[in-house]
Amino acid sequence: MEQMKAAVIHDIGDMKVEKVDVPQIKADEVLVKTKVCGICGTDVSMFRGRYLPVKPVIPGHEFSGEVVKVGESVGTIRVGDRVTVDENVSCGVCYFCKRQQKLLCPNLYQVGIHSNGAFAEYVKAPAQNVFKLPKEMSYEYAAFTEPLACSIRAVDRAGIMTGDSVVVMGDGPIGLALVQVARLDGASMVIDCGHHGYRLKKALEVGADVAVDTARENPVKKVSELTDGRGADVVIEAVGRLETYQQAFQMVRRGGNLAMMGVPAAGLKMELRPFDDMFNKELTLHGSFAGTYDTWIRAISLISTGKFKLGPLLTHKSALDQIPKALSLMEKRENNAIKILTSPEYKGLSKME
Ligand SMILES: [Zn+2]
Ligand SMILES: [Zn+2]
Repeated sequence: MEQMKAAVIHDIGDMKVEKVDVPQIKADEVLVKTKVCGICGTDVSMFRGRYLPVKPVIPGHEFSGEVVKVGESVGTIRVGDRVTVDENVSCGVCYFCKRQQKLLCPNLYQVGIHSNGAFAEYVKAPAQNVFKLPKEMSYEYAAFTEPLACSIRAVDRAGIMTGDSVVVMGDGPIGLALVQVARLDGASMVIDCGHHGYRLKKALEVGADVAVDTARENPVKKVSELTDGRGADVVIEAVGRLETYQQAFQMVRRGGNLAMMGVPAAGLKMELRPFDDMFNKELTLHGSFAGTYDTWIRAISLISTGKFKLGPLLTHKSALDQIPKALSLMEKRENNAIKILTSPEYKGLSKME
């Protein structure tokens, strides 16, 4: 059987770059030659065993590439197509799938999380999850379709109205994407909260009106000051820590919307006062854990037309065999890292030029 290079998680903190078999495709699947794959916080969580029980798996769910093989029942995708892939694979026939809520499908699996992904020379996916790229979109930019699709869906769910004040908790790649999408959605004021100076600077560069360094300032107090004591119309949490979730509940105004996008550790518990925090506040809550359906098409459009400023978020590139090092760079926020891209074609681990 044909072999390929891949970065495989074997156990908690144990990743090896090794030769494995090239995936075999089924009739309704395609084989994609990986061009670029983004490294996500989820990959770090998988590596550290915080996310799922660890089993040998090739991570990588934010990818672009070229189709090199198609199954016999695949009609619309051809060999040579330049593509990105929605990693959320659902059954298509259950109650949730029939209600256009495929992320809630009990049979859902995610390529690069539950099945082998794109930290490898090849990756397979069902043809129905494949999106063709416009000619002018580079593989590097296309690899950000997934995180942007997730961000668009969170903003959709948060229900931003033109003129709203919006707080984004978090200054990672998703936080910085949310800042821009909120801006594009017509927010009158976007406040980004984080505690990494270099990232907060980027937040201002890509459209935040105010960047709050939570290591120096109390973000709840600051948001209150900026909104005449009311709190923000919309708050989107994109950190996933207990403290930031608690702050998010305090920052949102009465009658406001709170979207929960940061991934909390499984089993995390949080204290809420149902009367003050929700009932009397008439709070609307929206969980949001991935992108779906049309958010992919909209993400591709925003990136390929340049309406979404992606350049400032891409900071590093890593060869496949440097991925373990790249994961630790990301985890420790060293070297001003924001988004790290990996590719079988890259050499070493370096800053984007
Ligand atoms: Zn991701
Ligand atoms: Zn289903």
